[in-house]
Amino acid sequence: MNFAFTERALTLQQRLTDFMQQHIVPRLAAWQTEVEAGHYPVSFMQDLKNLAKAEGLWNLFLPDLKENEPGTRLSNLEYAPLAEIMGAVPWAAEVFNCNAPDTGNMELLHLFASAEQRQQWLVPLLNGDIRSAFAMTEPDVCSSDATNIQTLIQKDADDYVINGRKWFITNASHPNCQLFIVMGKTDPNAEVHQQQSMILVPANTAGIEIVRNIKVMNHLSPEGHNEVVFRNVRVPAANLLGKEGSGFALAQARLGPGRIHHCMRSIGAAELALKLMTERAIERKAFKQQLYQHGVISQWIAQSRMEIEQARLLVLKAAWMIDQYGAKAAAKEIAMIKAIVPSMQEKVIDRAIQCFGAMGLSPDTPLADLWVNARALRLADGPDQVHLRSIARMEIKHAKEHLGQSSAYLVQRKI
Ligand SMILES: Cc1cc2nc3c(=O)[nH]c(=O)nc-3n(C[C@H](O)[C@H](O)[C@H](O)COP(=O)(O)OP(=O)(O)OC[C@H]3O[C@@H](n4cnc5c(N)ncnc54)[C@H](O)[C@@H]3O)c2cc1C
Repeated sequence: MNFAFTERALTLQQRLTDFMQQHIVPRLAAWQTEVEAGHYPVSFMQDLKNLAKAEGLWNLFLPDLKENEPGTRLSNLEYAPLAEIMGAVPWAAEVFNCNAPDTGNMELLHLFASAEQRQQWLVPLLNGDIRSAFAMTEPDVCSSDATNIQTLIQKDADDYVINGRKWFITNASHPNCQLFIVMGKTDPNAEVHQQQSMILVPANTAGIEIVRNIKVMNHLSPEGHNEVVFRNVRVPAANLLGKEGSGFALAQARLGPGRIHHCMRSIGAAELALKLMTERAIERKAFKQQLYQHGVISQWIAQSRMEIEQARLLVLKAAWMIDQYGAKAAAKEIAMIKAIVPSMQEKVIDRAIQCFGAMGLSPDTPLADLWVNARALRLADGPDQVHLRSIARMEIKHAKEHLGQSSAYLVQRKI
């Protein structure tokens, strides 16, 4: 394994850090004020996007962009620390066109779209001209098992007709969300992993009802985590993404790199929380000692540093493995980081909140928002337990294939 960053990667890290400090951090309060006043997207978002694009800090997440597609071609390992830098501010990734769920959708289109679909949807997404949503989760079934999905995508002459109810669909409130990638069943009688398909649904198609923007832990995201009903929604058959019955495989492909991007940003959020906690512990005094001089708080600082470093190394390993051997070969590492990193982020931010006292729960620090993101991420893109299940299955499969190898280490005592 080689995690050493190239000269190019180090230069990009510095440029991105400078961009964050010059253009994003000074606008944190303005972003909050505008969003609370109902102005979304905020007035300065497009200017920031133009600036990021002009500076070559654009579409940093896609390693294999085609020649005419805008962006900087980086490996996952090169992208990891950049996503980490963005992760300190929840809305920053959009400035660089690197935000979920658009990134995952662009990856899907990049891998599986036809030439016409690429032109119609991928090009404007890569240019940052439109936003998109990914609609898989349903209120009526355990959606962490994608085979449960009930939405129907039924063939009717030259069209498909979609019927179903989805929820927690991120971006669906974004005024510029123009595309839903919908997962549903084209053949409920096929083999269990061949029943699903994905289809591209323009957001202005008749029959789509945005029921509500669901609050996440009482926090309303302006881009939305929406409940959406698809009622006799009719689109041309050419809108199918990939082949009929390939939806489950496409979902697996989409979630691999997407999960690693989330984790990279989580490390950035945890790193910021640790820095805030440490500075606060140096500045504030209780019971005649600075906070850091209280053993328990210095332990929180030490534990947080160790946990962040552990998590970062595993994320870098996962990124390196995807680069070297592909997402499939890195399946265990991806599952491990998805189970470890959001929990680590939650724990570190929780300590920082405690160290800040009541202020930690207020909007005067970013901690409360970052904590909510961490908590949500333990469910979004698969609950922790599902990733643990996958890791255990891989371990057990490996052990069964090598059964007996470790038994030589057993000490057989004969009396
Ligand atoms: C902020 C946010 C944004 C989201 N954005 C999107 C989006 O854009 N598009 C989209 O389609 N979905 C989105 N989701 C939904 C998310 O992907 C689902 O919530 C997740 O996949 C879990 O599905 P579920 O809620 O149906 O939970 P269920 O499948 O009902 O699972 C409930 C619980 O059962 C337990 N469980 C499940 N399987 C196992 C197992 N094998 N072993 C042990 N325990 C198990 C786990 O504790 C799990 O949390 C988002 C969610 C959140 C919170």
